Amino acid sequence: MRLVAGAFSHTGRVRSNNEDSVLVDDEGPLYAVADGMGGHRGGEVASRTAIEGLRAAIANGRPVNEAISKANDAVLERAAGDDELSGMGTTMTAVVVAGPRQLLVGHVGDSRAYVLHDGALRRVTEDHSLVEELVREGRLTQEQAEVHPQRAIVTRALGVDADVEVDLYTLEVAPRDRVILCSDGLTTMVRENDIERMARAEADPQRLAETLVDAANTAGGEDNTSVVVIDVVEVDAESAIDPDRLAASGGAAAAPAPMRPAPDVPRPAIEMRDSWPRRIRNVALLFLPLILILGAAFAGVAWYARSSYYVGLAGDHVVVYKGIPGGVLGWNPTIDERTNLTARQLTQADHDQVAAGAARGSRSRAERYVANLRADVAATSTTTTTRPTTTTRHRTTTTVANGRRPPTSRTRATTAR
Ligand code: MN
Repeated sequence: MRLVAGAFSHTGRVRSNNEDSVLVDDEGPLYAVADGMGGHRGGEVASRTAIEGLRAAIANGRPVNEAISKANDAVLERAAGDDELSGMGTTMTAVVVAGPRQLLVGHVGDSRAYVLHDGALRRVTEDHSLVEELVREGRLTQEQAEVHPQRAIVTRALGVDADVEVDLYTLEVAPRDRVILCSDGLTTMVRENDIERMARAEADPQRLAETLVDAANTAGGEDNTSVVVIDVVEVDAESAIDPDRLAASGGAAAAPAPMRPAPDVPRPAIEMRDSWPRRIRNVALLFLPLILILGAAFAGVAWYARSSYYVGLAGDHVVVYKGIPGGVLGWNPTIDERTNLTARQLTQADHDQVAAGAARGSRSRAERYVANLRADVAATSTTTTTRPTTTTRHRTTTTVANGRRPPTSRTRATTAR
């Protein structure tokens, strides 16, 4: 397949720096847009680190979804070593060749891929944004989404979690088809009808990229805007399929390709403060888990409430609960495992801890805690067998004196020794 591409990225008219990064590598071939976010220089670093990680992984023959996961790893690693970069993230929309007539798009976030075919523009990717999810659920109209105050909140990005779900889209392409990748700086400023009109009118991919960015800036340029235009010039005959190469590389070229530097990014002469939407977005990424829980769905709450364990009491029995003590928003803990331990066997201190919900966290943590309780109880019964009098008297005394449960097993173990 023969592709010809052009790209342009611009800070816009409001931001002080460009946190987008683009990649145009005709040798790969590999094309990508990344829209970074984060305090200080975090956004810039995130998008650049992700693009580097993507490029290296593709050069090593990884399929595009794995390459985007590698890019995610790279962003997380970079952030881990630097307080100023913690919480940074980035979107990623990347295109590789997958077959003689096929392109493959890998996608995370709210940057987009479009295809222009026979003069009609079609959006390929789904935005991973709060408003787009609400639109898909039928709770917002597209028109409401376009002006929604929270439209900049992304629900999926690189740099947030060790696992990232990558959407994949296979595009069957023909000569004269055109693929457009763009950051949300374009789509929040320019309507799709206008993008389509310009994409039909401008034959040269580089000039189209510049024209689209200019249009975003003319409309206000509130965000960084990046556009990559990939023109399909020629497709291969079907017989040109090389299954080995496809299997080995997941559609990407197996040979390492030199990285082409991103096009020059003009810098504005004046420094301006971050505008509110970007701040909302930055904060949104930092608190993404919380936002998902509160805003997106009760399913998120359920997951949160149900993903942890603790040790508690059910009547007179010690049990492992799944959930959060007291429950969260109606999601009550349920008994995951009953133990053969009873409240009566526990020391007062252990009993108090267990009654309040002990060893909160993972299941293995709860299990370790129960094992320790068992060991304590076992030590106690040994004591009872060998020194019945001492232990019984001790227990009786304490029970009478305090009107409480037996004393701690540690006390009794000491007595035994
Ligand atoms: Mn953006």
